[in-house]
Amino acid sequence: MYKFILFNVREEEVELTKAWAKENNVELTFVDDQLTMHNIHLVEGHDGLSTSQNSKVPNEAYPILKEFGIKQIAQRSAGFDYYDLEEAKKHGIIISNVPSYSPESIAEFAITSTLNLVRKTRQIEEKTKEHDFRWQPAIRAGLVNEMTVGVIGTGHIGRVTAKLFHGFGVKIVAYDIYQNEEAKSFLEYKDSIEEVVAMSDIVTLHVPATKDNFHQFNYEMFKKFKPSAYLVNADRGSVVDTKGLIKALDDGLLAGAALDTYENESHFIPKDFSDKEIDDELFLEVLNHEKILFTPHIAHYTDVSVRNIMQIALKSVLEVLETGDTQNRVN
Ligand code: NAD
Repeated sequence: MYKFILFNVREEEVELTKAWAKENNVELTFVDDQLTMHNIHLVEGHDGLSTSQNSKVPNEAYPILKEFGIKQIAQRSAGFDYYDLEEAKKHGIIISNVPSYSPESIAEFAITSTLNLVRKTRQIEEKTKEHDFRWQPAIRAGLVNEMTVGVIGTGHIGRVTAKLFHGFGVKIVAYDIYQNEEAKSFLEYKDSIEEVVAMSDIVTLHVPATKDNFHQFNYEMFKKFKPSAYLVNADRGSVVDTKGLIKALDDGLLAGAALDTYENESHFIPKDFSDKEIDDELFLEVLNHEKILFTPHIAHYTDVSVRNIMQIALKSVLEVLETGDTQNRVN
C-alpha cells in the first residue's frame, strides 16, 4: 500500500479524497498548511506528495525531498508558478499540475463577473438596501448583447468563455500566441493585445502567468482601453499591475474591473481575515475601490472542480510511482 502526504487540504477535500484512497488502496496523511521548510520533515516515510501551493516552494526543499525518496510533487491547480521547475528537475522531482479540471467553472464565473459589472448589480444592491427603489441613471445598465468582447488567451478556459459569450450574440475578438482553428468559428483573432483592447467593451484575461506577461496590463496598456470598457481578470494577479489599474480607473481610462485575483494574494487567500488586520495598503485599495469588484480567487470553486482537482492530482502521483512519469508533468 502506497502512502501519500497531502498539504494545504481543506476539510471538504478530506471527505472527497477518502473514497478515492480506499478505491486505489492508498493511505493518506493530511496537513492543513502549505509545504514549507518548517513542516517538510512530515514528508519522510511517504511515497507520494501533493500540495496546493499559492506561495513559492523554497529551492532548499528539493534536495530534502529527494533524500526522503520523493519523486514528484502533484500541484492541485492549473498554475505552477510556485515552483522553480529546473531546480526541481535537477533533484529528480517531477512537478505535475492539473491542467484542466473544469474550464466551465472559471468561464461561467468570468461571465458572472461581466454581468455584475455591466448590470451594476453591486450599485443596485446598495440602493435596494437603502430602500431607494428608484430607476435612475446610476443603476441603468449597458447591454452585453451590443458589446465587443476581447478574449486574451484562447486555451481551455478562454475558449469556453468565448463560446458562452457567443451565446449572448456579441462580437468576439481575441489574441493568443497560438491561434486555435476551432475557435475561429466563433471569434476573430487580431495581431496584438493592443488591437484587441482598443476595440473591446469587455476584456477578459485567460493566459498563464509568465515572466513575459508580468504587469502586462499596466497604465500604458490601459491608455489603449475604451473609457467605457471593463477588465475581467479571473486569471493570475501578476498579469495586472494593480497600482497602474487603480490609477487608470481613477483617471477614467476604463470604467471598471472585476478581479478574482490580486498579485500579492497568497498571504490572504484562502484564509479568514474577518478578525485580523489587513496590512497591505494596495490590497485595501482594491477591496475598497468603488470601480473594482474583488472576489477571492474563487472562479474555479465549484463542486465539479473540487472533486476533479483532487482526483486528477492523486492519479498523477500514482502514475509517477507506477510508470516513472505522468502526462501532467510540467518540468
Ligand atoms: P491553457 O494553457 O489551456 O490556455 C492558455 C492560453 O494562453 C494558450 O492558448 C496559450 O497559447 C496562451 N498564451 C500563453 N501565453 C500567452 C501570451 N503571453 N499572450 C497571449 N496568449 C498566451 O490554460 P487555461 O486552462 O485556459 O488557463 C488559463 C489560466 O487561467 C491559467 O494559466 C491560470 O492562471 C488561470 N486560472 C485561474 C483560475 C481561477 O480560479 N481564477 C483557475 C484556473 C486557472
